[in-house]
Amino acid sequence: MAEVTLQQVTKTYDQEIRAVRNIDLTIADGEFVVLVGPSGCGKSTTLRMIAGIEDVTSGSICIGNNNVTNLPARKRNIAMVFQDYALYPHMSVAQNLAFGLERRREYGSSCKSLLSGAYRKQKLVENADIRNRVQEATELLGLTNELERKPKALSGGQRQRVALGRAIVRDPQVFLLDEPLSNLDAKLRRTMRIELRALHKRLGVTMIHVTHDQEEAMTLGDKLAVMDNGIIRQFDTPANIYDRPADRFVASFVGVPEMNFIEGEIRGSQFVSTDVTIKIPAERLPTTDAKNVVLGIRPEDITVTSGNSATVNNFERHGDHTDLFLTIGETQLSAREHGASTQSECVDFDINTNNVHFFECGENGSRL
Ligand code: ADP
Repeated sequence: MAEVTLQQVTKTYDQEIRAVRNIDLTIADGEFVVLVGPSGCGKSTTLRMIAGIEDVTSGSICIGNNNVTNLPARKRNIAMVFQDYALYPHMSVAQNLAFGLERRREYGSSCKSLLSGAYRKQKLVENADIRNRVQEATELLGLTNELERKPKALSGGQRQRVALGRAIVRDPQVFLLDEPLSNLDAKLRRTMRIELRALHKRLGVTMIHVTHDQEEAMTLGDKLAVMDNGIIRQFDTPANIYDRPADRFVASFVGVPEMNFIEGEIRGSQFVSTDVTIKIPAERLPTTDAKNVVLGIRPEDITVTSGNSATVNNFERHGDHTDLFLTIGETQLSAREHGASTQSECVDFDINTNNVHFFECGENGSRL
């Protein structure tokens, strides 16, 4: 187990694409951290640099007390799990699990005399150790009945477990997981999320997981690094990311439907826009004296009642709740209704002013 530290890490491809820009990140020993963000924001590049399968252009990476920036992947004591599992199709589950270990050992002992008695004795001990490790991993992952099967005879979930098992047998200091659940259907993804959390708890090892799926990130991570265009916009717990997003990018990336944004002005204790005027509790007013602001409000903090100040344009039923898409003058808002939906064409709406957010104006304005 080990802490992972990135200092001012930058990756430039072809001297122009800055995939990752001056990232600082400290992942505590034993923490489960998720790198999340839209496609192309630099998540995989960051993970691959930690793994050592991509060079850094500048900056440094430490695992534990070792500066590994210039070490090859095999010397970093990490294990990586990929989206496409990367299993050997002609090998059984047991062989897939043991193969990486055997190859590493062979590499390690390639300088020794293959004929020496000491070498043969050491080999026997190593083989027993490999068998034990494979057995432990298969028990942990519920794969004991699958040991002799080939990958093609396994379900998607089982294949992903084998890929995890291959990482576990190596007993690495850090697990790196690159979109490992993306090829699974929605139901299995949820099951595997629970299994991954449980596995992390049992192993207590540092895990770094990449996904573009905000729900997966929120449910898996002790902490999330929300990335955008090569930078980390916020590194925080899921609760803080949701309740205190650092800027508009983070606020809109997390939560479905996304947070509503309304441009307007602070006038005394009121927020005033073209279509909406709301009294804001003193403790919720922006702490700066900014006048022009963007108000952010999540759909679940807007409730509808009977009335006719807003038009219902559309709705999506989810069983336990309905998302309503409203128009008030020129302003579009999404609101959430619990239980049976109104089915009215016009409604009134209430904003829970205790949960409003304020941001600077502009595309990715910071939290005020
Ligand atoms: P993500 O994992 O967030 O989808 P990536 O880290 O794969 O994003 O990519 C970040 C940026 O770097 C993208 O613009 C991508 O096109 C670019 N990129 C990634 N790998 C290469 C490469 N080998 N050569 C050139 N550009 C690359």
